[in-house]
Amino acid sequence: MMAVYRRVLSLIVLLSLNVLETRQHGVVDFTHHDYDQMTSILNDLQAAYPSITRLFSLGKSVEGRELWVLQISDNPEIHEPGEPEFKYIGNMHGNEVVSREILLHFIEHLLQGYNNDDEITNLIDTTRISIMPSMNPDGYEKAKSDSSKPSVKCSGVVGRANAKGVDLNRNFPDQFSGEMSDESQLATETLLVKKWIDEVPFVLSANLHGGSLVANYPYDNRPDGKSDYSETPDDDVFRSLAQTYSSNHPKMHLPRAACVGDHFKDGITNGAEWYSVAGGMQDYNYVNSNSFELTMDVSCCKFPDASTLQGFWNDNKQSLLEYLKRVHTGLTGFVRDQNGQGIEGADINIGSRNHPVRSARDGDYWRLLLPGDYIVTVSKRGYDPVKRTVTIPKGLAKKEVFVLTSNGQAMDETGAQLEEVVPDKEKKPVPISLVIGLTIVCVVSLLLALALAILIAKKYRGKESAQGEYSQVHTCP
Ligand SMILES: [Zn+2]
Repeated sequence: MMAVYRRVLSLIVLLSLNVLETRQHGVVDFTHHDYDQMTSILNDLQAAYPSITRLFSLGKSVEGRELWVLQISDNPEIHEPGEPEFKYIGNMHGNEVVSREILLHFIEHLLQGYNNDDEITNLIDTTRISIMPSMNPDGYEKAKSDSSKPSVKCSGVVGRANAKGVDLNRNFPDQFSGEMSDESQLATETLLVKKWIDEVPFVLSANLHGGSLVANYPYDNRPDGKSDYSETPDDDVFRSLAQTYSSNHPKMHLPRAACVGDHFKDGITNGAEWYSVAGGMQDYNYVNSNSFELTMDVSCCKFPDASTLQGFWNDNKQSLLEYLKRVHTGLTGFVRDQNGQGIEGADINIGSRNHPVRSARDGDYWRLLLPGDYIVTVSKRGYDPVKRTVTIPKGLAKKEVFVLTSNGQAMDETGAQLEEVVPDKEKKPVPISLVIGLTIVCVVSLLLALALAILIAKKYRGKESAQGEYSQVHTCP
């Protein structure tokens, strides 16, 4: 019996070691992965770490490929109140393939770090991280089967667009040009990602490209359409976010241009100053959602030889991690009513910068800011606004709870007044004792009035009969 017990025990130990070995060895190798291989890697990683991953598809591409998203968190199935949402999207242009590979390695790096690396464990426990390695799987398959010379594939355009020839990074509704305002103009892939952006309270994100080595921040265009600096109300925050990525990359921030034609200071650039783009995804995120998004170009060559992939991963590993950590900076907390209930849709305004963020369903909010003192105003129709000076420290975000008091006016989302709320004291029913008392007073008054009327009538009749007698006496014939 003891021998059987020992054999079972050693078998369990052996099996555990095997699992450990497989995980440490990893399932992502340094080769290019087509759609089927990428799908199988994502499924394997999800199966190896089921408690901290959720694999789902936003929907199918034009040619029927899934737009996979792997979510990593301690409770990946749900948005946990107070936990910020972050996303990376790669391979939006199908022929820019380095981002697709480094995001697969980044997923594996995070998963392997859980319970092995304190910083990564803490990040996964306190963030919901969504990673879409390929937004354009159809374009990738086209680029992969392109038989052009390597030098042509480096700078070419085969597979850049989706299967219907649409450039996805020119296909989002644009704030200045008004283009793509009609949803019928949007590609299948654009619509699916737009819907995702609209639904999830993302705080920070990046979409990764190839063809240069730079961290590019909004805006991507200007009202006049010129290629010139186009500043957002959060230019300071964006420059700092871009620097976080470039300064943690061993080559991106260097003064010497990494790619032919590059001319970026510190490896960062304002999008419109580089060249004007209408319908870009980063501006859509910033203008239409709470998310601050940047566009990173991570390789000079768009489709490089597989032998260079490990180098790209090594160069971007720290940048990807440090940029993700910025989701925990600035100001965060909850907006609540007097009863402690979260208020959704409250505006969090910072001084005079014209870019409010809105609280999410549970009243939780995030506002990226650099360290310093800020006047914060939190408002929502139907409540008295609250104004407070807040000091944002270096490092982790400052936590602040704002309690709003109802001002007696309920408004719907469009601002129309629904009804005037009558204060409670005016709505109280009249006490029954008061009703009875008033009735008695009324009846008594009525009886008294009646008695008085009879008395006067009697007196008047007496006078009248005396006068009649007198008349009769003195009337002429
Ligand atoms: Zn691109």
